[in-house]
Amino acid sequence: MVTDKDHAILACNDNLARNLHLPEKPLGRFLGDILCSLEDDEGFSLLVSRQDNSLLPQIFRVCYTEILFKCYTFELENGFLVLGDRLGGTDNEVLESMSLLNNELSGLSRELAQKNRELEKANRKIKDLSRTDSLTGLANRAYFQERYEEAFTLARRHQVSLAVVMMDLDHFKHINDTYGHDAGDAVLRHFGRLVRESCRQEDFAARFGGEEFILYLSHTTIKEALVFADRLRQTLAGADILENQYQITVSMGVAGMAPDDSPESLIKRADQALYKAKDSGRNRVCAL
Ligand code: GH3
Ligand code: MG
Ligand code: MG
Repeated sequence: MVTDKDHAILACNDNLARNLHLPEKPLGRFLGDILCSLEDDEGFSLLVSRQDNSLLPQIFRVCYTEILFKCYTFELENGFLVLGDRLGGTDNEVLESMSLLNNELSGLSRELAQKNRELEKANRKIKDLSRTDSLTGLANRAYFQERYEEAFTLARRHQVSLAVVMMDLDHFKHINDTYGHDAGDAVLRHFGRLVRESCRQEDFAARFGGEEFILYLSHTTIKEALVFADRLRQTLAGADILENQYQITVSMGVAGMAPDDSPESLIKRADQALYKAKDSGRNRVCAL
């Protein structure tokens, strides 16, 4: 049993109810109303054993019966744990109790396994959420960084090409100011979907922040990345998003991995290329 500080029963196993000949678990009842000290005039109290000391057994009689229990009590943060061992049962009673306890234990193990599966699922969900940008469903910047560094290391080790594309929607402030923040959000979601749909399995895209997106393309030269990026740019420019009231465009900067690049310098070059695309008129792709 687990009781609170006042000895009210908070939890117990099925076997307790059975040994006390009760139809159900005596939850909420006071232990002192169920167990009596052997000396009748003694009030009810629990002898607390310490785990680092010798155990202090205490014999109780179940009130109004001749059933005896040897109990060990341990203090919990907000109450007590009482382990009871029935004394003097017949062999059959002991065997029956053991088999019922075994059943109870396998039931509890099943329940625990189920709870663990649920916990794992919840943990996976938390992990997914912590990696995802909630507006677009793309990866967020932190998760991009993690995957990008892995991809960079692999590309370097196997001496294969890797390209980075930085993207920034054009005049996005104007879209928000003219059509409202919700329309702005819808544009971000739409572009996020276009980016996701245009990626292959080995590419990885993320919302870098605000109206900026980034992706890396594995096994891709800067020339191939330029073709990819320009196709995506054209798809957005041709899309009917704000009911054709306003053409949404994006500027992009592309950079390909060079022998002396670090993960940071490659992204920095893509960013500089993006600035070049903005400076030279927007709705275009530049490479560095
Ligand atoms: P440029 O062509 O030079 O990139 O101009 P811009 O207006 O796109 O750039 P600027 O950096 O001036 O404005 C970006 C705007 O993006 C401002 C900010 O309010 C908006 N923004 C950032 N995050 C969100 C978002 O989650 N939802 C919406 N609706 N707007 C956002
Ligand atoms: Mg920006
Ligand atoms: Mg912008």
